[in-house]
Amino acid sequence: MLYHDDGRVKGVATGDLGVARDGTRKDSYQPGMELHGRYTFFGEGCRGSLTRQIEARFGLRQGADPQTYGIGIKELWELDPARHKAGTVIHTAGWPMNSTTWGGSFIYHLENNQAYVGYVVGLDYDNPHLSPFDEMQRFKTHPAIRPMLEGGRRISYGARALNEGGLQSLPKLVFPGGALIGCAAGFLNVPKIKGSHNAMKTGMLAAEAAFEAITGGAEAPAELAAFPPKFESSWVYEELYKARNFRPAFGKWGLYGAMLYGGLDLKLLGGRAPWTFRHKHADHERLKPAAKMPKIDYPKPDGVITFDKLSSVFISNTNHEEDQPVHLTLKDPAIPVAHNLKLYDEPAQRYCPAGVYEIVQDAGEQPRLQINAQNCVHCKTCDIKDPTQNIVWITPEGGGGPNYPNM
Ligand SMILES: Cc1cc2nc3c(=O)[nH]c(=O)nc-3n(C[C@H](O)[C@H](O)[C@H](O)COP(=O)(O)OP(=O)(O)OC[C@H]3O[C@@H](n4cnc5c(N)ncnc54)[C@H](O)[C@@H]3O)c2cc1C
Ligand code: SF4
Repeated sequence: MLYHDDGRVKGVATGDLGVARDGTRKDSYQPGMELHGRYTFFGEGCRGSLTRQIEARFGLRQGADPQTYGIGIKELWELDPARHKAGTVIHTAGWPMNSTTWGGSFIYHLENNQAYVGYVVGLDYDNPHLSPFDEMQRFKTHPAIRPMLEGGRRISYGARALNEGGLQSLPKLVFPGGALIGCAAGFLNVPKIKGSHNAMKTGMLAAEAAFEAITGGAEAPAELAAFPPKFESSWVYEELYKARNFRPAFGKWGLYGAMLYGGLDLKLLGGRAPWTFRHKHADHERLKPAAKMPKIDYPKPDGVITFDKLSSVFISNTNHEEDQPVHLTLKDPAIPVAHNLKLYDEPAQRYCPAGVYEIVQDAGEQPRLQINAQNCVHCKTCDIKDPTQNIVWITPEGGGGPNYPNM
């Protein structure tokens, strides 16, 4: 992040390339470039690392509900042509989650006998034994889903967090020198699991506000005050307003209550109920001690319909330069074992969908957390769910990460 002397955002600097794991410069070292702008728009997607810095520096989350999240695990399949029907859209809620844990699937049949199969788990879950990756694998074994996949072939795998807080959790959108757009702010429509249209539209609205400010004759203001009212009078606001009570209703009444409520609110009242339910807690505050929660016995993957994490990461085409500073940083390296392992059986071992975090114990040694950073698929779940917010995800060297050509 770059700032002017008066505190306004000046722009961003791209990361240095060719820095070794120990911080020294390799032969390939190239310093980053500074990019300056009258206004800088942050469109980093859900849980942006610079966005978090901006939110903290300018107090953008004051008065907003905590942002809440889900993790979406997604696979691309090539189906048996006899079981494929282009245009089929299936959304489910519940199983394999219990009725108090938010979860649901999406299946979209594409062209060429392909289909996206995905499962989203709300990151406000309370059982530290839960593994969103394994829940997705289990979902595929449902008697209504398995037959669709039989005879097919999994082609690709990915995982990414998504915002679930909705309208109540939006931060202030503007600050001196810039604006938050798309999922960096949190414009996703939760009941529909759709955010691309809102990301594009909010980028356009911010751009219009900037154009008017720069070409308006007078000196352009530091803060793009015209962007929030443009958003509030757009269809994005209307859409998020109607959807705002659906997700928090689940927190209040669980699956069946929320379904009933959703039908009443969205269908009968058209989303215009004269009340707004609040999100009271951040996701990292929700875990209960491992000893008090039921263990979950996940079935072994069969390598045909269900898979393990490492073979999944392999087909996400994830690659990182190995000799670079670890991009998964710990504020306090003692916490994973001293606190998380003791209390929660270190949930990072299970919530990470790429097997990045492992507790290892060499003979005669104390247990320690091993971070296999090169496997990271950049989903940001650890940054969100770590109980003490000790894990901070920072951008790795440019070009590193998953490579999803068709996801
Ligand atoms: C499993 C899943 C399924 C979904 N299905 C749908 C769907 O069917 N339809 C739909 O409309 N929406 C869907 N969404 C939501 C949709 O993906 C998002 O709403 C949308 O991508 C948000 O767009 P964005 O541009 O704000 O952020 P993103 O698409 O996340 O783009 C942000 C980009 O910025 C890059 N970036 C981030 N930080 C930095 C940095 N510091 N420096 C440089 N680059 C950076 C990221 O790598 C990324 O390329 C789904 C989301 C998930 C997780
Ligand atoms: S290390 Fe964190 S960001 Fe990377 S895949 Fe695992 S949970 Fe996601």
